[in-house]
Amino acid sequence: MATGFFWDERCFWHSGGNYAFMSPVGGLVQPMATGGLPEDPETKRRLKNLLDVTGLLDTLHSQSAPAITEDDLLRVHPASYLENFRSTSTAGGGELGLRTPFGPDGYDIACLSAGLAKEALFATLTGRVDNAYALSRPPGHHCLPDFPNGFCLLANIAVAVEAALAARMVDRIAVLDWDVHHGNGTEAIFYDRDDVLTISIHQERNYPLDSGDFEDRGSGAGEGFNLNVPLPPGAGHAAYIEVMDRLVIPQVQGFQPDAIVVACGFDASGVDPLSRMLAGSDTFRQMTGMTREIADDLCDGRLTLVHEGGYSAAHVPFCGHAVLEALSDSPITAPDPLAPRIAGQQPGPRFQAYCTTLIAEMEAALTS
Ligand code: ZN
Repeated sequence: MATGFFWDERCFWHSGGNYAFMSPVGGLVQPMATGGLPEDPETKRRLKNLLDVTGLLDTLHSQSAPAITEDDLLRVHPASYLENFRSTSTAGGGELGLRTPFGPDGYDIACLSAGLAKEALFATLTGRVDNAYALSRPPGHHCLPDFPNGFCLLANIAVAVEAALAARMVDRIAVLDWDVHHGNGTEAIFYDRDDVLTISIHQERNYPLDSGDFEDRGSGAGEGFNLNVPLPPGAGHAAYIEVMDRLVIPQVQGFQPDAIVVACGFDASGVDPLSRMLAGSDTFRQMTGMTREIADDLCDGRLTLVHEGGYSAAHVPFCGHAVLEALSDSPITAPDPLAPRIAGQQPGPRFQAYCTTLIAEMEAALTS
């Protein structure tokens, strides 16, 4: 099994914004001694470092990638947005949307992040590797064509998918987003299209506050090609696996994609500061295994994961390690020190039955 791992130290140098957690400093909000926005390089760098220390990284095809080209970006983003982003970056950085501050070279780093996603997808599609993981930063799934939000400055996965479609490497791609927040950017970009199936599993009403409803199934030619699975706060391992089994896998099977891309956020973790869910590293490991199985069945195993959110610097490395173990069939493990705590906090039978009822209602609506 050849698994590509695409990363670049420069992506960890993306910075900007004088925030205390999610709030701009000023008034009564005191600047933080350390930190700032939760979208901090340490979560990602510590994942790469853990892979290094266990030796798993040595077994992967580890590499960087060229920055995304302007031609690639223009399939998703208007020229005016790119010009504004580039000139603001050259002037030292700024803020063009909502919670997406960036510093000097922010444009170039975002182009590199999108380039990692494209290269990972292309490496999978051309057979250079069997599957791939892109440690992209800044993330991309919230970014709209002309409005950056939720720490996302360029729509990494959408840009990569459009590049693969334009190159006629594939006709149909499924994008599965298990970041705990709604993949509103990816949804919006492909909402009226039938060649890209978008699926988002997320905590209901987390971010954005006004999107991600189950009823939003796409429009026009895209009707039926978008699926939102909002879950209540507190849903844990069993709910995620049940969603994969009863909702995600049948939808992807019905779509018959030529490749699958996962927007891989780790912020459904039971210790993530930006969510109230109870996934563990085994949840991510198992979801990766299930996605690999459907990719094997449907599209010669062509599976690419692109890193999105995940804000627990202590836990993300172990979740990511579990995903890369599952992706590469590796015997190298990194026992998760938080696994017993998260396992002990899983919902009891009454709440689990409630989750099962919600999932069964969505399943019935999809099959009716
Ligand atoms: Zn997220």
